[in-house]
Amino acid sequence: MSHAPNLFFESVNQNFAKAAAYTGLPSGILDQIRAVNTVLRLRFPVRIGDDVEVIEAYRAQHSHHRMPTKGGIRYAMTVDQEEVMALAALMTYKCALVDVPFGGAKGGIKINPKKYSVDQLERITRRYTYELINHGMIGPGKDVPAPDYGTSSREMAWILDTYLSMNRGELDGIACVTGKPVTMNGIRGRDEATGRGVYYGVREMVSIEEDMKKLGLTVGIEDKRIVVQGLGNVGYHTARICQTEGNAKIIGIAEYEGSIFNPDGFDIEALAAHRKEHGTIMTFPGAQPLSNRMAALELDCDILIPAALENQITMENAPNIKAKIIAEAANGPITAEASAYLAEKGVWILPDMYINAGGVTVSYFEWLKNLSHVRFGRMTKRFEQNAYDNIVSAIEKYTNSKVSDRDRAILTKGPDEIDLVRSGLEETMITAYHAIRDQWMADPRIEDLRTAAFVVAIKKVGSDYAQLGIFP
Ligand code: NAD
Repeated sequence: MSHAPNLFFESVNQNFAKAAAYTGLPSGILDQIRAVNTVLRLRFPVRIGDDVEVIEAYRAQHSHHRMPTKGGIRYAMTVDQEEVMALAALMTYKCALVDVPFGGAKGGIKINPKKYSVDQLERITRRYTYELINHGMIGPGKDVPAPDYGTSSREMAWILDTYLSMNRGELDGIACVTGKPVTMNGIRGRDEATGRGVYYGVREMVSIEEDMKKLGLTVGIEDKRIVVQGLGNVGYHTARICQTEGNAKIIGIAEYEGSIFNPDGFDIEALAAHRKEHGTIMTFPGAQPLSNRMAALELDCDILIPAALENQITMENAPNIKAKIIAEAANGPITAEASAYLAEKGVWILPDMYINAGGVTVSYFEWLKNLSHVRFGRMTKRFEQNAYDNIVSAIEKYTNSKVSDRDRAILTKGPDEIDLVRSGLEETMITAYHAIRDQWMADPRIEDLRTAAFVVAIKKVGSDYAQLGIFP
């Protein structure tokens, strides 16, 4: 696995600098927007077996222009201070872009979670949470973590329990972390949110005829040939929804153990079930094994979706990439240099800060739900159902016709929480895509969607300082 965290931080800064020049903001404000405000560097002991292990961990809060700050926690051996800082910065821009009113943050623990038992992981997670509490770096109005690479709703449940046990009676305490299990004040649709957001964003991009003409692609997501790297939370849901709802063909998958190809497209749910049972994708029926783990990225396809880790597409493999569109479902999967090279070659890159913003968007919905202490739809579902029912009955009466039971059930359905979450996410991803595309089209100096996305985000963060009267 290529690992160059400094490269990642450098990439984020380079991308920022390129876009900053087009924002018209004063340099002092740009410096403040770019700066990582707070970094907590931790070393704490945890008992592992008969010994004690010193655990290395971080939490970075990039920007306090809006509070709380927000960002995932990752468990990976790549974690270091610069990686966490880069990811925290990306969170600020991501939140601004999709109008989620938070500053950016990110946390990380430098461990390989596969090497620890569930008990040990729980001990590490709870100790990390104590540290965050002691340093005032967690809380519903301060800093709100979420899952990221190597963590899931299970870790969020441990964080919630630790926080509540130390802050008994805090009215909004359950909003201290998002991505929680639904049964522990989580929200329906959070698990799939990042992948579903990737689907909505890609679908929107390929629906614009003028743009597809430029790329030499047909309009619409149906039958698009897609390759996905990483079949974890983000990659699995992205691939599954593109296949089942978009009727796209997932022709290649790259995972840790290797990569596979099937020109007719994989059944993603069956593939994931196979991996769960056999521990590998390589033996899936109908799969053609490729030479190595990275080979699928170079397949002839329409859309490439790296959804594993950063720095996966570098100048080493960028010349071999054949996709016309790359959707950065992972954070920082393409280095700045490779990104510029691919853009020059005419590849359209949907940047990470936009395309994987579905997770934080639905986390925001979860936080709102927690603060309001009521499930979305609870107060209105039945009311809306009755209102639609009355309309259908009136139409029947005045047209002297009968609506079938099936149609009536569809027409009169009041929204559940999951319906509202999905529609709020769809609206967010579509609106943000057009904001970025409009910015790109409006300014001929802007060379790609990533720079346009940074310009939109930096201007939004900058406008908060303007409201504070720091500059006119
Ligand atoms: P995850 O741990 O659920 O899944 C990652 C997957 O990538 C795993 O299946 C792993 O085996 C695979 N993988 C690891 N190294 C690989 C390699 N070299 N080649 C191919 N596959 C490899 O993590 P996730 O939550 O899906 O996160 C993936 C990426 O998406 C990260 O960059 C993360 O920061 C980003 N992201 C996640 C969320 C979220 O809501 N989980 C939101 C926004 C962005």
